[in-house]
Amino acid sequence: MGSRLISIVVPVYNEADSLDGLIAEIRDVAARDGLEVEVILVDDGSRDASWEKIVSLAQSVQGIGGLRFRRNCGKAAALMAGFAAARGDVVFMMDADMQDPPEEMPRLLAKLDEGFDLVSGWKRIRHDPWHKVYPSRVFNKMIGWLTGVRLHDHVCGFKVMRREVAKDLRIYGEFHRFIAVFSAARGYHVTEIPTLHRARTRGVGKYGFTRFFKGFLDLLTVTVLTRYRWRPQHAIGVAGVAIVLLSVLLPLLAWFSGRMSWALSGLHLGWPFQTTRGLLAMLAWPVMILTPGLVLIAIGLVAELMVAQRPPDRLYEVIEKAGWCADIEPAQD
Ligand code: UDP
Ligand code: MG
Repeated sequence: MGSRLISIVVPVYNEADSLDGLIAEIRDVAARDGLEVEVILVDDGSRDASWEKIVSLAQSVQGIGGLRFRRNCGKAAALMAGFAAARGDVVFMMDADMQDPPEEMPRLLAKLDEGFDLVSGWKRIRHDPWHKVYPSRVFNKMIGWLTGVRLHDHVCGFKVMRREVAKDLRIYGEFHRFIAVFSAARGYHVTEIPTLHRARTRGVGKYGFTRFFKGFLDLLTVTVLTRYRWRPQHAIGVAGVAIVLLSVLLPLLAWFSGRMSWALSGLHLGWPFQTTRGLLAMLAWPVMILTPGLVLIAIGLVAELMVAQRPPDRLYEVIEKAGWCADIEPAQD
């Protein structure tokens, strides 16, 4: 491919200490591989000196642009602002913390050129604490089961996509974890390749332990939004029907097995005939206890469907621009 423009979107939240190094590495790779790049640093309401850093980088380095949010709106909103501004034929997303080495960009690009629309990084050898690594494996497996999009590392912040994929995304909340799922649901060809990963040496991680609970609930939402968007009752109602059936069937079976064991007792049949009744009666309890929880989750899903129907008006508000981004009017919908 001739000289195509590559946009690199970087969400920035309190990452002042990483930005110099990140830009230096991006420039090294671009120079070495002859890539034409533009960078969009999106300051997601940082409270440290990130914005001052972005402004000074935008003044001294060509191709650096910055957008600043009034407040912290989340990584998904930061990515959306960056994607809206991007002018490239190909768009990267990359974390600001330098955990994703820019030197992997040419490999991701080469994979994209094999004919994919989105290539995700995969932190195969991951330098994060164990309490992040293991739950994340389970989470990725669950995403694969529920959505049918099987990647090892959906959450990886290092991805490259064709321009139209980035422009088609409508992510908000914490849906940045499901970019591959949304893109695949639109019919884009999605894949992953193992990429190098480094430990965070500057700044601190932004997501605590609750990420897995939120991530799990979001997974249910994303599954409904991508697979059941036009037939939500097939997801929510089927769970309801299962509960109704269980609550009718279990007591009935318990009663029936009670009569059976009485009839069969003369034959001195041991377990399971004598215990089935108790077992089934016991099973009825979890059904009753689970039901209120499932009802709450179902209500939550309905709320999510309402939000998804019309993306929130003000996902973010850009209050300052720097570098080449000063000239653009980021689209917002
Ligand atoms: N980030 C952001 N807004 C937020 C939280 C995080 O823009 O509200 C950025 C953050 O600065 C970093 C990226 O998202 O560039 C990933 O964050 P982090 O490294 O904390 O996530 P982890 O690597 O722990 O998944
Ligand atoms: Mg990180």
